[in-house]
Amino acid sequence: MADKINVLIPEETVDAKIKEIGEQISKDYAGKEVHLICILKGGVFFACELAKRITVPVSLDFMQVSSYGNATESSGIVRIKKDLDDTMENKEVIIVEDIIDSGRTLHYLIPVLKQRNPASIRLCALLNKPDRREVEVQIDYLGFDIPDEFVVGYGLDYAQKYRNLPFIGVVEPDAAEDAPE
Ligand code: 5GP
Repeated sequence: MADKINVLIPEETVDAKIKEIGEQISKDYAGKEVHLICILKGGVFFACELAKRITVPVSLDFMQVSSYGNATESSGIVRIKKDLDDTMENKEVIIVEDIIDSGRTLHYLIPVLKQRNPASIRLCALLNKPDRREVEVQIDYLGFDIPDEFVVGYGLDYAQKYRNLPFIGVVEPDAAEDAPE
């Protein structure tokens, strides 16, 4: 049976915000090129839409990480499942992530990526759950702060489903209870 999904952030609002972030990045990096590092799989829809809204030259690379932990809590120990294809040396890097929750994944990953000598490194996240934060993470470009609810859509899944929803939604509580990471 299909889960019931309630709209938290409508499609038009998400699209408008991505356009706004794209414009801001274009201004901040005027005269330069940006290298977007998309964190798979959740960041992919956001990264593609964002890239289309950036007017300076953009290159894209992809990384997949998995965080050891249980369904609701990440341990902070991150394994790189798919590493980048290209070097990030001397590039103006922006990491594009779907959501910052405990913060553990990016808290671990950013120092690891800094060791690869980018010219600069910033973080762009579509969603942020400030109430869930356990470790400090600086988000340079943010779409929306959201409450502590399990959300899907725009790249975010529930058991690999709903990534393709064009809005941010919340799965009805009883359905989301056993949601995997
Ligand atoms: P953190 O290390 O910040 O706790 O975890 C970030 C990762 O947890 C995200 O990249 C995402 O995969 C997952 N995550 C956290 N909150 C949610 C949520 O509400 N919905 C979904 N689908 N994934 C989430």
